[in-house]
Amino acid sequence: MYNLLNEPWLPVRRRSGERQRIASWQITDKPEDAIVALDFPRPDFNGSVMQFLIGLYQVTLAPWPESDWLERFTTPPTPQRIREAFQAFEKAFLLDGEGYRFMQDLSAADAEPKSISAILIEAPGQQSIRENKDFFVKDGFANTLCRSCASAALYTMQSNAPAGGKGFRTSLRGGGPLSTVLYADSLWHSIVLNTLPGNVAATVNARLFPWLTPMPTSEKQEVIIPTDVAPMHEYWGMPRRIFFHFSDQASLTCDVCGGSDTTLVTKYSERNYGPNYQSGVWKHPLTPVYVKDDMPRSPVHASAHCLHYRHWPSYVLPGGSGGTVPAPVVELFLSMRNRDLRDENIDTGDIGLNTFGYDMDKMKARCWYEGRMPVFNLPAEELEVYRRRVEGMIEAATLIGGNTVKAVRRAQFGRVESISKNGAIKWTLPKGNSDDAALPQSLTDAFWQYTESQFYRHIHQLRDIVGDTDKEIPLMRSWNDVLSRQAETLFDAIVDSEDYSRTNPRNVVLARKELYGMNRSKKIFELLNIPLEIHAFETQLITEER
Ligand SMILES: [Zn+2]
Repeated sequence: MYNLLNEPWLPVRRRSGERQRIASWQITDKPEDAIVALDFPRPDFNGSVMQFLIGLYQVTLAPWPESDWLERFTTPPTPQRIREAFQAFEKAFLLDGEGYRFMQDLSAADAEPKSISAILIEAPGQQSIRENKDFFVKDGFANTLCRSCASAALYTMQSNAPAGGKGFRTSLRGGGPLSTVLYADSLWHSIVLNTLPGNVAATVNARLFPWLTPMPTSEKQEVIIPTDVAPMHEYWGMPRRIFFHFSDQASLTCDVCGGSDTTLVTKYSERNYGPNYQSGVWKHPLTPVYVKDDMPRSPVHASAHCLHYRHWPSYVLPGGSGGTVPAPVVELFLSMRNRDLRDENIDTGDIGLNTFGYDMDKMKARCWYEGRMPVFNLPAEELEVYRRRVEGMIEAATLIGGNTVKAVRRAQFGRVESISKNGAIKWTLPKGNSDDAALPQSLTDAFWQYTESQFYRHIHQLRDIVGDTDKEIPLMRSWNDVLSRQAETLFDAIVDSEDYSRTNPRNVVLARKELYGMNRSKKIFELLNIPLEIHAFETQLITEER
């Protein structure tokens, strides 16, 4: 039988670049050439199986007090020791066989089998096949999966499940949650950074691994809440009742990784009305949550915009008054563990945050997004000021991004009604292009994207000088310049590419000048905590130049 604790189903990459397949217990072998990352051919598999591993080590190596964390980090257990710890859990990780199977439901076995391609999240639902709208991946593309890819696909589906039609439930965090996973210089270090201290030894039962019993179903909208399950069930939720059908046609190769296997998965069966996780009550260790009235609410979901740096404080800075709090593992790292590493002078290499998830539109995946964000540690007494400065920087960027859209619209479609003595212009815009109309997303996306690396550079420098006004002012002015220059570059690129017979050159000149002024307004200076005397002085210089 194929056991996910013992079979070498994990493709990994070592520091030297060497690639191989290992079993789950071999994460710590060959420390001189440590494993640095998972190496599946699909990024969604890498993101999801990383969570599988974090969950696995979280439950099998518990209990452990927080005071032990640093020793775990610096002194990994030997593979043999890990293997021993896994033994008690083996029966929960069988992928096949007659008995209970990992994240599968025996009672779905006799449902009509469908192609395994449908378990890959970008695969179209039945509805869209009928309507022939499956542009993302053609139905039938991945008809055969090796057991490694099938296992990864199964965990990916159960932990990200979108709405799937009547009674097909979403994942414990809803459809397409955002995950924020700390990364370090080795896979072992990354796993330890993402595990929480545990008080209770996990036991192998259905409160932790729901597939170890006839599954609770939800025909009558029955829901599951945290008190129904064991701690850390968040990693093992299974909203979908799935059952794999295996084939011994070893002549076939896997359509995802191109590898061979003695047994492959070509079909699976599925029934609806799987476990129905109550929304708004779960706190997943790896996902930031929206907070309302001091109560955690829904988990943040991945979207096209959730990885913009404007969300950086929400995912990475604890204790904010905003509507989002970082994931528990990130809060723990920033409040305690980062300091422990610094105090002990432990060279960890680069530590940061991987952020990823599916952007779901109900049943369909629009896109898989992933990105990286830096994490910093700051003494508690500096955190508040630092947060205010960073939030000011982001607000300034939001405003300047908006100014850019405004200026482009005015240059392209505006009519100048009047210009006052102090140079203020009154514009009129045709219907549908007013200042309040929806922003052209490509322009704002470009603005955020092109200023991102500079944002991280500036907040990195700010960390070392926060509270020192003499040093803060030039840094904030530099940020203002970065934003303003990017705004002007984008303005020029868009407006210059326009057909000049359609735009009025005078409007272009006026809108650009106005953009320059708006991006250096008092409001922007206030947001960046730059003294207004500087603003008054410079405005005077500009007026004199005129
Ligand atoms: Zn494969």
